Amino acid sequence: MTTLADPVPGGRPGDVERATALSDELSERGVHGIVLGYVDTAGVGRVKTVPTAKLASAAAWGVGMSPVFDTFLANDSIVATDVLGSPDGDLRLYPDLDQLVVLAGQPGWAWAPVDRITQEGEPHPGCTRTVLRRTVAEAAERHGITFKAAIEIEWSVGQGAAPDGEFVPATTGPAYGATRQVELGDYAADLLAACAEQGIDIEQLHPEYAAGQFEISVGALDPVAAADRSVLVRQTIRAVAGRHGLTVSFAPAVFAKGVGNGGHIHLSAWRAGVNLHAGGKGRYGMTAEAESFTAGILARLPALTAVTAPSPASYLRLKPSQWAGVFTSWGRETREAAVRVVTGTAGLQARAANLEVKPVDLAANPYLALTCLIAAGLDGLTSAAPLPEETTGDPARLGAAEAAARGVRRLPTSLSEAVEEFRGDKRLRAALGPVLADAVIAVRLGEIEAVAGLDDERVAAAYRWKY
Ligand code: GLU
Ligand code: MG
Repeated sequence: MTTLADPVPGGRPGDVERATALSDELSERGVHGIVLGYVDTAGVGRVKTVPTAKLASAAAWGVGMSPVFDTFLANDSIVATDVLGSPDGDLRLYPDLDQLVVLAGQPGWAWAPVDRITQEGEPHPGCTRTVLRRTVAEAAERHGITFKAAIEIEWSVGQGAAPDGEFVPATTGPAYGATRQVELGDYAADLLAACAEQGIDIEQLHPEYAAGQFEISVGALDPVAAADRSVLVRQTIRAVAGRHGLTVSFAPAVFAKGVGNGGHIHLSAWRAGVNLHAGGKGRYGMTAEAESFTAGILARLPALTAVTAPSPASYLRLKPSQWAGVFTSWGRETREAAVRVVTGTAGLQARAANLEVKPVDLAANPYLALTCLIAAGLDGLTSAAPLPEETTGDPARLGAAEAAARGVRRLPTSLSEAVEEFRGDKRLRAALGPVLADAVIAVRLGEIEAVAGLDDERVAAAYRWKY
């Protein structure tokens, strides 16, 4: 369970004692340093580290880091908003001890996600983890709704010895092929072992479609823990790969053409421990609330893409008929629908039924993406939004008239279009708060500017190793 309290100067109740005991225990286990990780607005994982002996001090007083990273771009240049992007000021990074994990793939290190607060002890309005935690807490208080979420991870495994900046797949086997599992079996086995040691329940690991591509799916958790887990699993995938002389890319599009790396989000809403997506009188067992929650997400997908597909490279992936879900349609087990309704197998529905949102990639800050998806879904739920008709098959085959009649829209085809949709969506901007919403817009515009004039291959190359 994720710590629900915001951090405070001096430490959350009990945290300093816990951190003191933990640091002794960690030192005995040979852990020398703690990685304090968070994800910036552009979707890049950033860290500070402290020696293990400083864990109690970090839990009490945080660790300094500039707020300027809220407006960093993936290429490490900096943009500005009215309140962010200045070289002035400092923030404190507070580790969430509940989520601290000894890194099996990086001997000598442990990792913890952080919350960021100001030197005055106020939550930093740019802290995406805090915003998600509050969104979840508010949903529970106001609507009696809780959530389960899981983020799928697709990544491309490349040869470590490839020429600088290039991607050369580390396996030559076919999509989903047994060959790939054999060729990279040692790596995959070490990865499974590392995840197990770190307490991550992996559901599956399989060779995927694109060159050198693999996928991991994990069990569902509360949204903040699911986002933390996504960051941790990627750190582990990369660390274990490095020990095998391999490189990994989580970029939405490793190359300009072809199937990309997705980061599909599974999400379900629950009331009093009961899954709203199963056992109801609506379509495929959805309750009326689950139908409206689904409708809320569907209606806002064009604006959501500014958060779920935040990189110029995201739009190389978001192409029709590549399983990325680029039309605003839903369908049961429809792999081309932006929202796939998953009912679960007979006997498992009450536990397993959920929504899978596909136009999400791993350039997305997972805390931002989940905050916005939940806000959109709740907006649908509270306004009893009607869920449109289901669309089966590939929506790309619908003629313009039929698509219009069904309300099926193509999602933005560029980051600029997505930013304009997001700018026009008051509900999503309100869900993030003005500081973070402005940061999202400024960072996206900065990314657009950073690749202006580049052809698609160069755009793919620019982001290939950033996420
Ligand atoms: N690689 C696809 C994507 O970019 C997803 C493939 C799948 O359905 O697992 O979203
Ligand atoms: Mg996949």
